[in-house]
Amino acid sequence: MQEYKLFINGEWTESGTGETFDDINPATLELIGKIHKASDEDVKSAIDSAQEAFDAWSSTPAPQRAKILFSAARMLEERKEELSRILTTEMGKVLKEARGDVQEAIDIAYYAAGEGRRLFGETTPSELPDKFCMTLRRPIGVVGLITPWNFPIAIPAWKIMPALVAGNTLVLKPASDTPIMSIELVKILAEAGLPKGVLNLVMGEGGIVGSAIVHSKKIRAISFTGSLETGKQILGEAAKDMKRVSLELGGKNPIIVMDDANLDLAIDGIIWGAFGTTGQRCTAASRVIVHEKILSSLQKKLIERARKFRLGNGLLGNTDVGPVINSSQLQKIAKYVEIGKNEGARLELGGKAVKPLPGYFFEPTIFTDVSPDMRIAREEIFGPVVSLLSAGSLDEAILIANSVEYGLSSSIYTENLKNAFKAIEKIEAGITYINASTIGAEIHLPFGGVKSTGNGTREAGTTAIEEFTELKTVYIDYSGKLQKAQIDIE
Ligand code: NAP
Repeated sequence: MQEYKLFINGEWTESGTGETFDDINPATLELIGKIHKASDEDVKSAIDSAQEAFDAWSSTPAPQRAKILFSAARMLEERKEELSRILTTEMGKVLKEARGDVQEAIDIAYYAAGEGRRLFGETTPSELPDKFCMTLRRPIGVVGLITPWNFPIAIPAWKIMPALVAGNTLVLKPASDTPIMSIELVKILAEAGLPKGVLNLVMGEGGIVGSAIVHSKKIRAISFTGSLETGKQILGEAAKDMKRVSLELGGKNPIIVMDDANLDLAIDGIIWGAFGTTGQRCTAASRVIVHEKILSSLQKKLIERARKFRLGNGLLGNTDVGPVINSSQLQKIAKYVEIGKNEGARLELGGKAVKPLPGYFFEPTIFTDVSPDMRIAREEIFGPVVSLLSAGSLDEAILIANSVEYGLSSSIYTENLKNAFKAIEKIEAGITYINASTIGAEIHLPFGGVKSTGNGTREAGTTAIEEFTELKTVYIDYSGKLQKAQIDIE
C-alpha cells in the first residue's frame, strides 16, 4: 500500500511519530493510502521552514512568483482527468463533479497567477504640496491553512494560490479524510518550481496537528474552512496572539420558490442544490421555502424526480449520487432524520442508510410539513436531506430564510423582477442567486457568508488577495521641509 509522507522544507519527509492513518474510499471502503501522521516536532519544522523561506519568497518579484503558478495551472490542466479520478476515489463525489472541483483549482491558479502583474494599490493626492501618497500590498508572513474534505483540491487551491502570489509562505493541514488531493497539489507546485520551504504540508488530526498550527506564535494568520464549531474554537485561540483569522463556515441555504416561478426550472435547481455532492456542500440547498399555492405540485414533481436517483460509485457514468464521506457523517444524517420525525415533520422520501456498495450511502431524503423552528430547518445536516417549508408571501418566505444563524448562499425562483430585487435586498446571505440553485460559485467573484457563516472575509475574486495581504500606506514628502498634515492647512 502506498504511503504518503509530509512535505517539509522541500522534502517528502517521514513523520516523527512513526505512525500512519488510513485513507479510505468512502464508496467501497477500500484502503487507498497510508498517511504519515505529523508529530509536534514535524509541525514545528514545517513552520520554521516557512519562516526561513519567507524573506526570499516575499522579496521575489510578484510576476516571478506568478510564473510558478502559471506552470502549476498548466500541469493541473494536463492532469485534470487523472486528478478527478483520484478525487472521486478519495472523496466519493461523482466524476463530473470531481472534474468541477479540479477545474476550480485550475481556474484559481490562473486567476491568482494573473494577480502577479496586478496586486494593485492606490495613489491619491496629498492635502499638502510636494507630497505623494499611495498604498501597497505586503504579504502577511507565515500563514496556516486548514481545509475540509468536501472540496479536496478546490479549497486548498483557493487558499494556496492567492496566498503564494501575494508572497506569503505556508503550512497546509488538509482534512484527514482527503489528504491525497492536497498531496497531489503540493507535488505539482513543487514540480512547477516552488522554492523549498515556501509551501509545507502536514497531516494528522485537526485537534492535534491543526491546533498546533493555530497555537504557534510564528503563524501570523490562519485561513480556515470547516464547521462553525471548529471555526469558533480557532477564532478564540488565535485571538490570544492577535492572529488574523479568516473563516468560511457552514450554511443552511434556502431556495425560495414563488407562485410565479418556472416550476420545472426550480425543481432542476432544487435537485442540484440538495443532492449534488450528496448534499455535502457548504452551499447545499437544505431548505426549500415554497409559496403555498404551488406547494403540492412542486412536492409531487420533486419526489418523483428524486425517487429515480441511482446511488453508487461516483466513477461509474450511471451514478447520480455518491457516498457520504465517513461513518460518523452517516450516523449524523440518520440522527437528524430521527430528530425530524420526532419533531413532527413528514418523511416523504428516503431516510435510511443503504448499501449499494460496502461504503457510506444515504438515500436522498425529503421532509415536508417542516416548520422554521424545527432543528432540521435550522441546523446544518451536510447530507442529502432537504426540508420543504411553506410560505404565504415573499415577506414570509424571506423571514423564514433569515431565521437561521447561517448566511452563506440563497436563491429565489421567480419571474417577477420586483420579487427578485426584494430578495437581493432582504435575504441575509453572502450570495443570492436569481433563478439558479444555491450552488455554482465562480472563482472570480467573492465567496463567503454573513452571520455565523464567517467573520467577514471573502475568498476568491478580488478579495482573494485581501485575505492574504496587509495594506501599507506610504507618504513621500519631497518638499524638503517639515510639513504638518491637518496643521499647515489654512
Ligand atoms: P471540520 O470538522 O471543522 O474540519 C475542518 C478542518 O479543520 C479539518 O482539516 C480538520 O481536521 C480541522 N480541525 C478539526 N478540529 C480542529 C481544531 N481543533 N483545530 C484546528 N483544526 C481542526 O469540518 P469538516 O467536517 O471537515 O467540513 C465540513 C464543514 O465545512 C461544514 O460545516 C461545511 O459547511 C463547511 N464548509 C464551509 C465552506 C465555506 O466556504 N463556507 C466550504 C466547504 C465546507 P480533521 O480532518 O483531521 O478533523
